[in-house]
Amino acid sequence: MNILIVYAHPEPKSMNGAMFNTAISTLTAAGHQVKTSDLYHMEFNATSYRTNFSSTLNHEFYKQQLEELHATSVNGFAPTIAAEQEKVAWCDLMIWQFPLWWFSVPAIMKGWVDRVFAMGRTYGQGYTYETGIFCGKKAMLSLTTGGGKEDYSTGGLNGDMDNMLKPLHRGIFQFTGFSVLSPHVVYSPARRTPEDRSKELSNWTSRLNTIFEETPIDITGY
Ligand SMILES: Cc1cc2nc3c(=O)[nH]c(=O)nc-3n(C[C@H](O)[C@H](O)[C@H](O)COP(=O)(O)OP(=O)(O)OC[C@H]3O[C@@H](n4cnc5c(N)ncnc54)[C@H](O)[C@@H]3O)c2cc1C
Repeated sequence: MNILIVYAHPEPKSMNGAMFNTAISTLTAAGHQVKTSDLYHMEFNATSYRTNFSSTLNHEFYKQQLEELHATSVNGFAPTIAAEQEKVAWCDLMIWQFPLWWFSVPAIMKGWVDRVFAMGRTYGQGYTYETGIFCGKKAMLSLTTGGGKEDYSTGGLNGDMDNMLKPLHRGIFQFTGFSVLSPHVVYSPARRTPEDRSKELSNWTSRLNTIFEETPIDITGY
């Protein structure tokens, strides 16, 4: 199968870096084709603007979605954006690896979505949710936290993790047609022992080895 891993962490020697490398080696060893978008290493520009495009519809007034529709029809995306769009279109499974920052993804990853998931090319004109352009593909969040598991349980200090991830699961993945696999969360790696962290990496390897046998989850509450 074809797998795209989108990775957002500034430090290659971090736990996220270890999880990213574990995923590449595990999935490759299992015979899958793996492509990556290592956003910090790429120095990916998170600012969505006219630099998204090689074409221009309106020089006077910038309306991003109209420029996106135009770029879709004239093949007018900037090469860096078109390359990312091709990777998303190519994959059967997309994995995002990131640390939870302010209850969400790091800005560089949000910017990647803002720029790459363009109207016309990835959604819109009747193609959303069950008719989404990426129907048939799967997507999964793999993340680490600073807070402990108890902080992200129902009634915990920060609230339920499933609720926290809904905007990503529903508003990006399902909106564009992806089926959503259960998120993989490593809680508070910095406050765990090296042995705990090694165990987490083993658990991640085990999960990835059977990832295509998993049933997508229901996203309730919408
Ligand atoms: C801007 C910002 C916002 C944040 N917002 C939130 C938030 O909303 N909620 C929240 O809970 N947290 C938040 N945090 C905390 C953040 O989520 C955690 O710091 C992060 O998830 C920890 O993951 P890491 O990869 O950075 O860990 P690191 O601290 O890089 O790694 C932990 C340890 O793992 C070790 N390690 C690396 N590789 C291996 C290996 N192969 N085997 C064993 N050990 C290894 C490292 O050496 C390190 O000691 C925020 C942090 C920032 C900077």
